[in-house]
Amino acid sequence: MKNSKIWLSSPHMGGSEQKYVQEAFDTNWIAPLGPNVTGFENDLKEYLIENKYAACLSSGTAAIHLALVQLGVSRGDEVLCQTFTFCGSANPIMYQGANPIFVDSEFETWNMCPNHLETAIKDRISKGKRPKAIILVHLYGMPAKINEIISIANKYEIPIIEDAAEALGSSYKGQKCGTFGTFGVLSFNGNKIITTSGGGALICNSEEEKNNTVFYATQARDDAPHYQHSKIGYNYRMSNISAGIGRGQMEVLDKHVRLRREMNTFYKTLFANIGGINVMSEPNDDYFSNSWLSCILVSEQFGYTKNYIIKAMADCNIETRPLWKPMHIQPIFKRYDYYGQGESEQLFEKGICLPSGSNLTDEDKNRISEAFMSLLSRA
Ligand SMILES: *Cc1c(COP(=O)(O)O)cnc(C)c1O
Repeated sequence: MKNSKIWLSSPHMGGSEQKYVQEAFDTNWIAPLGPNVTGFENDLKEYLIENKYAACLSSGTAAIHLALVQLGVSRGDEVLCQTFTFCGSANPIMYQGANPIFVDSEFETWNMCPNHLETAIKDRISKGKRPKAIILVHLYGMPAKINEIISIANKYEIPIIEDAAEALGSSYKGQKCGTFGTFGVLSFNGNKIITTSGGGALICNSEEEKNNTVFYATQARDDAPHYQHSKIGYNYRMSNISAGIGRGQMEVLDKHVRLRREMNTFYKTLFANIGGINVMSEPNDDYFSNSWLSCILVSEQFGYTKNYIIKAMADCNIETRPLWKPMHIQPIFKRYDYYGQGESEQLFEKGICLPSGSNLTDEDKNRISEAFMSLLSRA
């Protein structure tokens, strides 16, 4: 079908997902626990790093929420959060009745700027408010300036929640994203690099923390013969059906990373000889991005605006999307404090996410190049 829709990032099954789901049916483990949940958690641990522990949950947002709960974030506390991100990074701060303080990005990785972070921490401390946590994001799969951020966090003794929802398979100096923070967050939503249809995981430093996460995710039930509760719990555990899909997806994760990186190379080649379009790229060899989404910045020199390009692609049935609109200019968050110099607004103004899925065909790539070429010929 020539005119079928080309999606930004759609689910891509590897083949053995149904086998694990069938096993769940055959053994009647249709519940938010079971062999697939345990198996998926082991697969994640093995993939990421041996000394960490994964707790599988119903979403990445739930994982951030349970990280905040376990760090003791409560009403009136302040949490520093990267402003250039998806709302799932910031909403859980509100669930706790705490106040987000937004920190802007640098232009090399598009993630939290170490200088703005330190300015923010010093200023909050001088106002008598020591931030309770830092939510750092690896946006679009690009690792943040993790060493600089960690050394500032350590200096002021503030824990990091590492939002690697978009960065499973990315690494910095050979270490996998999601394993640097006090807690790491993964998402398996339908549009992410691997999916369980919906789901997430919290990466913890010890088995005890993992067990504590599972405790909160299963309604915080005390050790008693009856149902007894001395803490507020949540219904956040991953189902054994979803985890079956996850086990199948783990078998193809590295392949997905390779294919998404090939999409990024495809765009670099496509735009190499076209002035005014820059593809988001790793600053140097320390950074390894899973290229979850390939993004471009369009400058005036190109001759068309961001919105014009998005519209022209939509006319060819090709899905593209603006970059994330920064949190500090969102209607729900604009009354909160912000540290930065408008970097993310500049990126938002000029940036577009392009189709990046691991399941795009050569024919899809041809349609994408032709769409850009015909745009140029109209200039
Ligand atoms: C997807 C995403 C989340 C939330 O994950 P869900 O599983 O959709 O709840 C959080 N942060 C970022 C940066 C994301 O892209």
